[in-house]
Amino acid sequence: MEITAVNQYDLCYELSESWSPAWKPGYEQDVHEVVLFELETDAGISGVCTASGFAGRMEYRDLAEMFLVGADPRDIGTILDRLEPLNLWGPRPWHFEVACWDILGKDAGKPVYELLGGDGDPIPAYASTGERQPVAERLSYVEDRVSEGFEAVKLRCHAADPEEDIEVARRVREAFPDLTLMMDANMGWSVPLTERNQWTFAEALAVARELEAIGNVGWLEEPLDRRNYRGLARLRERTDVPIAGGEFNNGLHHFREFVRQGSLDVLQPDAVLATGIRNATHVASMAETNGLQFAPHTWNDGLGFAANLHVLAATPARWCEYPIEPPGWTPEGRDFLLSEPIRAANGAVAPPDGPGLGVDLDWDLINDLDEDDSAVE
Ligand SMILES: [Mg+2]
Repeated sequence: MEITAVNQYDLCYELSESWSPAWKPGYEQDVHEVVLFELETDAGISGVCTASGFAGRMEYRDLAEMFLVGADPRDIGTILDRLEPLNLWGPRPWHFEVACWDILGKDAGKPVYELLGGDGDPIPAYASTGERQPVAERLSYVEDRVSEGFEAVKLRCHAADPEEDIEVARRVREAFPDLTLMMDANMGWSVPLTERNQWTFAEALAVARELEAIGNVGWLEEPLDRRNYRGLARLRERTDVPIAGGEFNNGLHHFREFVRQGSLDVLQPDAVLATGIRNATHVASMAETNGLQFAPHTWNDGLGFAANLHVLAATPARWCEYPIEPPGWTPEGRDFLLSEPIRAANGAVAPPDGPGLGVDLDWDLINDLDEDDSAVE
């Protein structure tokens, strides 16, 4: 079998409501941008995978302009900081590797998780918020999720002064004493549209200590830069709250460093963003043999979510991340390119069980949305 063509579709889907991702302070998101890649083969089988889009991705000009217009070219430090996000949304090898797994599964007539030795049992999920919200709104959100069957919720903590978000966590804990809480600081990478916001070591440690007091915290995610292996290790030595990370650590070597330097309790590769599917299973083995947890990142479009679900179904992962922040980020908007969104039931998510990645794409919508209306070959 040979790959004979690569098609690319630039998709921009209008969300029914805009929302404000905690990790992009000052940015109001009203569309879901996705780059869809399709590999064609001489066997008549096509494989698909997606990359996240942001501000006209793939045409680099818009993105570069967004971060560089107005900056002083003599201030090289600032220029380098502002260019950092360009390394986050590039088409990485993983996108194409995932599409190859889709082809392998379709050729064998089996879901990817079965090729990896996994089963189709639903995986316990935590509801993953996307916004920083005040106490009352967040309590109402948690109530909704708990009534749907979720036993864990991940909150966001991205303020320069984290006290506001810590207070939200305290109040959620008071109202839901049995709920497992995770806290994501999103300090592993930065989108400095307004200003760079990363905690110092002391700030990260102070947050970890507050979370210890709150109790039953599953983990504190990305409290420091994703490449600060030693800093994360020092933090981990000084707190009982498990430290998590890895979603944007591009490639297996980062995870080797996490393990070698004792940086993390929870390894969180993303099959699409960080490692591909095969390397994600290698990371799972690294976690298992080093006594660490494995909990892949899944915050993606529906196809990326599906890819990570196959990894989850084939590894001893404890939690599946289920991204949901209504009304802005819903299963319908998140998974718009699928015929049917992936849904949690009773606080768990089953991996798609069709051949390959196991989901059907809404090709009518995709062809309508494709910006230049012609596949690049
Ligand atoms: Mg995260």
